Amino acid sequence: MCEVRWRDCVRYVQSSMENAVGALYVRETFAGESKRMVSDLISKIQEAYVETLEELSWMDAPSKEKAREKAMAIKEHIGYPDHILEKNNQKLDEEYAHLNFTEDNYFENILENLQCEAHKSLKKLREPVDSDLWIIGAAVVNAFYSPNRNQIVFPAGILQPPFFSKHQPQALNFGGIGMVIGHEITHGFDDNGRNFDKDGNMLNWWSNYSAEHFKEQSQCMVQQYGNFHWKLAGGQNVSGISTLGENIADNGGVRQAFKAYLKWVATEGEEPHLPGLDLNHKQLFFLNFAQVWCGAYRPEYASQSIKTDSHSPLEYRVLGSLQNFEAFSEAFQCEKGSLMNPEMKCRVW
Ligand SMILES: [Zn+2]
Repeated sequence: MCEVRWRDCVRYVQSSMENAVGALYVRETFAGESKRMVSDLISKIQEAYVETLEELSWMDAPSKEKAREKAMAIKEHIGYPDHILEKNNQKLDEEYAHLNFTEDNYFENILENLQCEAHKSLKKLREPVDSDLWIIGAAVVNAFYSPNRNQIVFPAGILQPPFFSKHQPQALNFGGIGMVIGHEITHGFDDNGRNFDKDGNMLNWWSNYSAEHFKEQSQCMVQQYGNFHWKLAGGQNVSGISTLGENIADNGGVRQAFKAYLKWVATEGEEPHLPGLDLNHKQLFFLNFAQVWCGAYRPEYASQSIKTDSHSPLEYRVLGSLQNFEAFSEAFQCEKGSLMNPEMKCRVW
Protein backbone atom coordinates (compact mmCIF):
# COMPACT_ATOMS: atom_id res chain seq x y z
CA MET A 1 0.00 0.00 0.00
CA CYS A 2 1.22 3.47 -0.84
CA GLU A 3 0.85 5.78 2.13
CA VAL A 4 2.73 8.81 3.27
CA ARG A 5 5.60 7.39 5.36
CA TRP A 6 4.72 9.13 8.64
CA ARG A 7 1.15 7.89 8.39
CA ASP A 8 2.35 4.34 7.90
CA CYS A 9 4.60 4.62 10.94
CA VAL A 10 1.93 6.14 13.16
CA ARG A 11 -0.54 3.44 12.14
CA TYR A 12 1.97 0.70 12.87
CA VAL A 13 2.90 1.99 16.32
CA GLN A 14 -0.76 2.66 17.16
CA SER A 15 -1.75 -0.92 16.31
CA SER A 16 1.19 -2.66 17.97
CA MET A 17 1.52 -0.50 21.12
CA GLU A 18 -2.02 0.70 21.64
CA ASN A 19 -1.80 1.31 25.39
CA ALA A 20 1.34 3.42 25.10
CA VAL A 21 -0.22 5.49 22.32
CA GLY A 22 -3.53 5.53 24.17
CA ALA A 23 -1.87 7.01 27.26
CA LEU A 24 -0.35 9.84 25.22
CA TYR A 25 -3.62 10.45 23.41
CA VAL A 26 -5.80 10.52 26.51
CA ARG A 27 -3.42 12.83 28.40
CA GLU A 28 -3.49 15.23 25.48
CA THR A 29 -7.20 15.37 24.64
CA PHE A 30 -9.65 13.41 26.77
CA ALA A 31 -11.91 15.33 29.14
CA GLY A 32 -12.41 13.27 32.30
CA GLU A 33 -16.07 14.21 32.70
CA SER A 34 -16.90 12.72 29.26
CA LYS A 35 -16.79 9.31 30.89
CA ARG A 36 -19.66 10.06 33.24
CA MET A 37 -21.68 11.79 30.51
CA VAL A 38 -21.32 8.86 28.12
CA SER A 39 -22.14 6.34 30.84
CA ASP A 40 -25.31 8.31 31.47
CA LEU A 41 -26.14 8.25 27.76
CA ILE A 42 -25.62 4.48 27.66
CA SER A 43 -28.19 3.99 30.46
CA LYS A 44 -30.67 6.13 28.57
CA ILE A 45 -30.23 4.18 25.32
CA GLN A 46 -30.41 0.86 27.15
CA GLU A 47 -33.70 2.01 28.62
CA ALA A 48 -34.95 3.05 25.17
CA TYR A 49 -34.02 -0.37 23.76
CA VAL A 50 -36.02 -2.11 26.50
CA GLU A 51 -39.03 0.16 25.98
CA THR A 52 -38.89 -0.41 22.24
CA LEU A 53 -39.32 -4.14 22.84
CA GLU A 54 -42.91 -3.41 23.87
CA GLU A 55 -43.68 -2.10 20.39
CA LEU A 56 -42.73 -5.34 18.65
CA SER A 57 -45.52 -7.67 17.65
CA TRP A 58 -43.26 -10.30 16.06
CA MET A 59 -41.66 -11.34 19.37
CA ASP A 60 -43.41 -13.23 22.17
CA ALA A 61 -43.33 -12.24 25.84
CA PRO A 62 -40.83 -14.88 27.09
CA SER A 63 -38.28 -13.91 24.40
CA LYS A 64 -38.79 -10.22 25.17
CA GLU A 65 -38.03 -10.90 28.82
CA LYS A 66 -34.78 -12.67 27.87
CA ALA A 67 -33.88 -9.80 25.54
CA ARG A 68 -34.52 -7.32 28.32
CA GLU A 69 -32.29 -9.26 30.71
CA LYS A 70 -29.54 -9.44 28.14
CA ALA A 71 -29.72 -5.71 27.35
CA MET A 72 -29.55 -4.78 31.01
CA ALA A 73 -26.59 -7.13 31.58
CA ILE A 74 -24.42 -5.44 28.91
CA LYS A 75 -21.14 -4.28 30.42
CA GLU A 76 -19.42 -1.12 29.27
CA HIS A 77 -15.91 0.18 28.73
CA ILE A 78 -15.69 3.92 28.17
CA GLY A 79 -12.66 6.02 27.20
CA TYR A 80 -9.57 4.13 28.35
CA PRO A 81 -8.38 1.54 30.88
CA ASP A 82 -7.54 3.38 34.13
CA HIS A 83 -4.13 1.82 34.49
CA ILE A 84 -2.67 3.58 31.44
CA LEU A 85 -2.76 6.88 33.32
CA GLU A 86 -1.03 5.61 36.47
CA LYS A 87 1.44 8.15 37.77
CA ASN A 88 4.68 6.23 37.39
CA ASN A 89 3.50 4.05 34.47
CA GLN A 90 4.24 0.85 36.34
CA LYS A 91 1.74 -1.35 34.51
CA LEU A 92 2.57 0.17 31.15
CA ASP A 93 6.26 -0.43 31.76
CA GLU A 94 5.53 -4.06 32.62
CA GLU A 95 3.52 -4.49 29.45
CA TYR A 96 6.48 -3.47 27.33
CA ALA A 97 9.27 -4.79 29.54
CA HIS A 98 10.08 -7.70 27.23
CA LEU A 99 10.54 -5.52 24.20
CA ASN A 100 14.11 -5.03 23.18
CA PHE A 101 14.04 -2.28 20.60
CA THR A 102 17.12 -0.94 18.90
CA GLU A 103 17.05 2.33 17.08
CA ASP A 104 18.36 1.19 13.72
CA ASN A 105 16.97 -2.35 13.41
CA TYR A 106 13.48 -1.86 12.00
CA PHE A 107 12.89 -5.49 10.95
CA GLU A 108 14.11 -6.93 14.26
CA ASN A 109 11.91 -4.48 16.14
CA ILE A 110 8.90 -5.83 14.27
CA LEU A 111 9.88 -9.37 15.24
CA GLU A 112 10.09 -8.22 18.86
CA ASN A 113 6.54 -6.91 18.62
CA LEU A 114 5.24 -10.10 17.04
CA GLN A 115 6.85 -12.20 19.75
CA CYS A 116 5.43 -9.98 22.48
CA GLU A 117 1.93 -10.23 20.97
CA ALA A 118 2.15 -14.02 20.70
CA HIS A 119 3.32 -14.22 24.29
CA LYS A 120 0.38 -12.09 25.45
CA SER A 121 -2.15 -14.28 23.60
CA LEU A 122 -0.68 -17.54 24.84
CA LYS A 123 -0.80 -16.34 28.43
CA LYS A 124 -4.61 -16.23 28.16
CA LEU A 125 -4.84 -19.90 27.19
CA ARG A 126 -6.95 -21.94 29.65
CA GLU A 127 -7.30 -18.92 31.93
CA PRO A 128 -10.77 -17.59 32.86
CA VAL A 129 -11.97 -14.60 30.77
CA ASP A 130 -10.64 -11.34 32.18
CA SER A 131 -13.58 -8.97 31.86
CA ASP A 132 -11.43 -5.97 32.81
CA LEU A 133 -9.27 -6.45 29.77
CA TRP A 134 -9.81 -3.86 27.05
CA ILE A 135 -10.31 -5.33 23.59
CA ILE A 136 -9.08 -2.18 21.80
CA GLY A 137 -6.83 0.84 22.42
CA ALA A 138 -8.04 4.26 23.55
CA ALA A 139 -6.90 6.25 20.50
CA VAL A 140 -9.33 4.60 18.08
CA VAL A 141 -12.26 6.28 16.31
CA ASN A 142 -14.60 3.31 16.44
CA ALA A 143 -16.88 1.43 18.83
CA PHE A 144 -17.38 -2.26 19.49
CA TYR A 145 -19.69 -4.96 20.72
CA SER A 146 -18.20 -8.24 21.88
CA PRO A 147 -20.81 -11.05 21.73
CA ASN A 148 -18.85 -13.45 23.92
CA ARG A 149 -18.39 -10.83 26.62
CA ASN A 150 -21.75 -9.13 26.11
CA GLN A 151 -19.80 -5.92 26.33
CA ILE A 152 -19.77 -2.58 24.53
CA VAL A 153 -16.63 -0.46 24.15
CA PHE A 154 -16.33 3.25 23.33
CA PRO A 155 -12.67 4.30 23.13
CA ALA A 156 -11.73 7.93 23.87
CA GLY A 157 -11.08 8.41 20.14
CA ILE A 158 -14.78 8.34 19.22
CA LEU A 159 -15.88 10.52 22.15
CA GLN A 160 -15.23 13.76 20.29
CA PRO A 161 -17.09 15.92 17.72
CA PRO A 162 -19.04 15.33 15.60
CA PHE A 163 -19.98 12.23 17.62
CA PHE A 164 -19.94 13.82 21.04
CA SER A 165 -19.12 17.00 22.91
CA LYS A 166 -20.40 18.54 26.08
CA HIS A 167 -20.42 21.84 24.19
CA GLN A 168 -22.73 20.75 21.38
CA PRO A 169 -26.55 20.48 21.52
CA GLN A 170 -27.88 17.21 22.90
CA ALA A 171 -29.71 16.67 19.59
CA LEU A 172 -26.27 16.23 18.02
CA ASN A 173 -24.98 14.00 20.83
CA PHE A 174 -27.98 11.69 20.61
CA GLY A 175 -27.85 11.62 16.78
CA GLY A 176 -24.07 11.00 16.91
CA ILE A 177 -22.68 8.95 19.81
CA GLY A 178 -26.23 8.07 20.97
CA MET A 179 -26.90 6.34 17.68
CA VAL A 180 -23.52 4.57 17.90
CA ILE A 181 -24.37 3.34 21.40
CA GLY A 182 -27.71 2.01 20.14
CA HIS A 183 -25.91 0.41 17.19
CA GLU A 184 -23.51 -1.47 19.49
CA ILE A 185 -26.29 -2.56 21.86
CA THR A 186 -28.33 -3.82 18.90
CA HIS A 187 -25.35 -5.94 17.77
CA GLY A 188 -26.18 -8.11 20.78
CA PHE A 189 -29.46 -8.86 19.01
CA ASP A 190 -28.48 -9.07 15.34
CA ASP A 191 -28.29 -12.27 13.29
CA ASN A 192 -24.97 -13.17 15.00
CA GLY A 193 -25.24 -11.61 18.47
CA ARG A 194 -28.64 -13.14 19.13
CA ASN A 195 -26.99 -16.57 19.41
CA PHE A 196 -25.21 -15.57 22.64
CA ASP A 197 -26.79 -15.13 26.07
CA LYS A 198 -26.39 -12.40 28.67
CA ASP A 199 -23.10 -13.91 29.90
CA GLY A 200 -21.68 -14.21 26.41
CA ASN A 201 -22.12 -17.96 26.16
CA MET A 202 -23.45 -19.43 22.94
CA LEU A 203 -26.95 -20.45 23.95
CA ASN A 204 -30.32 -20.35 22.24
CA TRP A 205 -32.60 -18.22 24.43
CA TRP A 206 -35.26 -17.77 21.75
CA SER A 207 -38.70 -19.35 21.48
CA ASN A 208 -39.31 -20.99 18.10
CA TYR A 209 -42.01 -18.43 17.39
CA SER A 210 -39.73 -15.42 17.99
CA ALA A 211 -36.78 -16.97 16.13
CA GLU A 212 -38.96 -17.68 13.08
CA HIS A 213 -40.25 -14.13 13.02
CA PHE A 214 -36.81 -12.64 13.59
CA LYS A 215 -35.74 -14.27 10.33
CA GLU A 216 -38.82 -13.00 8.55
CA GLN A 217 -38.26 -9.41 9.73
CA SER A 218 -34.57 -9.59 8.75
CA GLN A 219 -35.38 -10.87 5.29
CA CYS A 220 -37.03 -7.54 4.53
CA MET A 221 -33.69 -5.75 5.12
CA VAL A 222 -31.80 -8.32 3.08
CA GLN A 223 -34.04 -7.31 0.16
CA GLN A 224 -33.98 -3.57 0.84
CA TYR A 225 -30.18 -3.22 1.08
CA GLY A 226 -29.59 -5.81 -1.65
CA ASN A 227 -31.40 -3.48 -4.04
CA PHE A 228 -28.94 -0.63 -3.48
CA HIS A 229 -26.42 -0.44 -6.26
CA TRP A 230 -23.32 1.59 -5.76
CA LYS A 231 -22.22 3.71 -8.71
CA LEU A 232 -18.71 4.18 -7.34
CA ALA A 233 -18.20 0.40 -7.28
CA GLY A 234 -19.16 0.09 -10.95
CA GLY A 235 -22.87 -0.23 -10.13
CA GLN A 236 -22.47 -3.44 -8.16
CA ASN A 237 -25.22 -4.30 -5.70
CA VAL A 238 -24.72 -4.28 -1.94
CA SER A 239 -24.91 -7.77 -0.45
CA GLY A 240 -28.00 -7.69 1.73
CA ILE A 241 -26.91 -10.90 3.41
CA SER A 242 -23.35 -10.07 4.43
CA THR A 243 -24.32 -6.57 5.63
CA LEU A 244 -27.41 -7.75 7.52
CA GLY A 245 -25.98 -7.56 11.05
CA GLU A 246 -24.70 -4.01 10.56
CA ASN A 247 -27.95 -2.88 8.95
CA ILE A 248 -30.00 -4.32 11.81
CA ALA A 249 -27.67 -2.46 14.21
CA ASP A 250 -27.95 0.85 12.28
CA ASN A 251 -31.74 0.69 12.13
CA GLY A 252 -32.08 -0.20 15.80
CA GLY A 253 -29.46 2.33 16.85
CA VAL A 254 -31.02 5.38 15.24
CA ARG A 255 -34.50 4.43 16.51
CA GLN A 256 -33.35 3.93 20.11
CA ALA A 257 -31.26 7.11 20.11
CA PHE A 258 -34.20 9.15 18.80
CA LYS A 259 -36.53 7.72 21.43
CA ALA A 260 -33.96 8.49 24.12
CA TYR A 261 -33.61 12.07 22.84
CA LEU A 262 -37.38 12.62 22.97
CA LYS A 263 -37.36 11.37 26.55
CA TRP A 264 -34.47 13.68 27.40
CA VAL A 265 -36.39 16.66 25.97
CA ALA A 266 -39.49 15.64 27.94
CA THR A 267 -37.60 15.89 31.22
CA GLU A 268 -35.02 18.61 30.50
CA GLY A 269 -37.07 20.78 28.14
CA GLU A 270 -36.59 21.84 24.49
CA GLU A 271 -33.12 23.10 23.62
CA PRO A 272 -32.91 26.71 22.46
CA HIS A 273 -33.29 27.26 18.73
CA LEU A 274 -29.94 27.78 17.00
CA PRO A 275 -29.77 31.29 15.53
CA GLY A 276 -29.34 31.56 11.78
CA LEU A 277 -30.15 27.92 11.16
CA ASP A 278 -33.56 27.01 9.83
CA LEU A 279 -33.63 23.56 11.41
CA ASN A 280 -35.43 22.26 14.46
CA HIS A 281 -33.79 19.85 16.90
CA LYS A 282 -35.41 16.72 15.53
CA GLN A 283 -33.98 17.67 12.17
CA LEU A 284 -30.59 18.37 13.78
CA PHE A 285 -30.63 14.90 15.35
CA PHE A 286 -30.96 13.32 11.89
CA LEU A 287 -28.52 15.79 10.37
CA ASN A 288 -25.77 14.73 12.77
CA PHE A 289 -26.59 11.06 12.28
CA ALA A 290 -25.96 11.60 8.55
CA GLN A 291 -22.94 13.79 9.28
CA VAL A 292 -21.05 11.20 11.34
CA TRP A 293 -21.34 8.68 8.49
CA CYS A 294 -20.33 11.15 5.78
CA GLY A 295 -17.21 10.06 3.95
CA ALA A 296 -15.53 9.45 0.60
CA TYR A 297 -14.04 6.39 -1.07
CA ARG A 298 -11.70 5.93 -4.00
CA PRO A 299 -13.45 3.81 -6.66
CA GLU A 300 -10.84 1.05 -6.21
CA TYR A 301 -11.60 0.89 -2.52
CA ALA A 302 -15.34 0.96 -3.21
CA SER A 303 -14.99 -2.12 -5.45
CA GLN A 304 -12.99 -3.89 -2.77
CA SER A 305 -15.16 -2.98 0.20
CA ILE A 306 -18.48 -3.86 -1.45
CA LYS A 307 -17.10 -7.41 -1.54
CA THR A 308 -15.45 -7.47 1.89
CA ASP A 309 -16.96 -4.89 4.29
CA SER A 310 -19.69 -6.12 6.64
CA HIS A 311 -21.03 -2.53 6.66
CA SER A 312 -23.13 -1.12 3.85
CA PRO A 313 -21.54 1.80 1.94
CA LEU A 314 -21.75 4.93 4.10
CA GLU A 315 -24.52 6.64 2.12
CA TYR A 316 -26.76 3.56 2.29
CA ARG A 317 -26.16 3.16 6.00
CA VAL A 318 -27.87 6.54 6.31
CA LEU A 319 -30.50 6.28 3.56
CA GLY A 320 -31.44 2.67 4.38
CA SER A 321 -32.12 3.27 8.07
CA LEU A 322 -33.96 6.55 7.49
CA GLN A 323 -36.23 5.11 4.79
CA ASN A 324 -37.47 2.71 7.45
CA PHE A 325 -37.98 5.33 10.15
CA GLU A 326 -41.30 7.15 10.18
CA ALA A 327 -39.93 9.80 12.59
CA PHE A 328 -37.50 10.95 9.89
CA SER A 329 -40.25 11.41 7.31
CA GLU A 330 -42.23 13.32 9.88
CA ALA A 331 -39.32 15.60 10.78
CA PHE A 332 -38.63 16.48 7.13
CA GLN A 333 -42.18 16.08 5.80
CA CYS A 334 -41.34 13.47 3.19
CA GLU A 335 -44.42 12.56 1.22
CA LYS A 336 -45.71 9.04 1.50
CA GLY A 337 -44.40 6.97 -1.38
CA SER A 338 -41.37 9.23 -1.97
CA LEU A 339 -37.79 7.86 -1.95
CA MET A 340 -37.21 8.56 1.77
CA ASN A 341 -40.71 7.55 2.83
CA PRO A 342 -41.51 4.34 0.97
CA GLU A 343 -44.75 2.42 1.72
CA MET A 344 -42.72 -0.70 2.39
CA LYS A 345 -40.67 -0.33 5.58
CA CYS A 346 -38.43 -2.87 7.29
CA ARG A 347 -38.04 -3.18 11.02
CA VAL A 348 -36.39 -5.72 13.29
CA TRP A 349 -35.81 -3.86 16.60
ZN1 LIG B 1 -21.43 -2.48 13.85
